[in-house]
Amino acid sequence: MTILDALLARTSAAITKPGPEMRRAIATAHSAAYYAAIKERTGVMPKGLSKAERGDLKLAVAAQLKYYDAFAAQAATMSEGAVAARAQMYAGAVRGTYYGARYPGLKQVPGDGQTSCLSNCKCSISEQDDGLHWTLNAGESCGDCEAMAAGGPYDRT
Ligand SMILES: [Zn+2]
Repeated sequence: MTILDALLARTSAAITKPGPEMRRAIATAHSAAYYAAIKERTGVMPKGLSKAERGDLKLAVAAQLKYYDAFAAQAATMSEGAVAARAQMYAGAVRGTYYGARYPGLKQVPGDGQTSCLSNCKCSISEQDDGLHWTLNAGESCGDCEAMAAGGPYDRT
């Protein structure tokens, strides 16, 4: 299991229903993903973040919490299944933060919200000899994800 898979599993379990705990878990997960990505990229767990990195992380968390607050406000009118499915999208979005910090040269990464499936796909980035590949995994893959997969390999830098 990769460090990202472990983080996603932990996040999924922690964010099943809206509430202060879920809100906190979203912020914690993005922060953990950011640190883990830097560790994977540099080989060292950072003791702290640079000003630019802090800004970057803060923006990612703020964007998610904004979506979360809108979701929490609507949740009472949604079915239990819809709430659970929507909650899991917040785990998927952690991938965007992780991959963005892991591969800062990529303009687009799975889970960053730039594809029409938003964070609902199961796509990942895999490192191969010829560069980085956007990998489609079992689960939903929208046309945008398929185009990103077909467009690889991408530069590692
Ligand atoms: Zn997609």
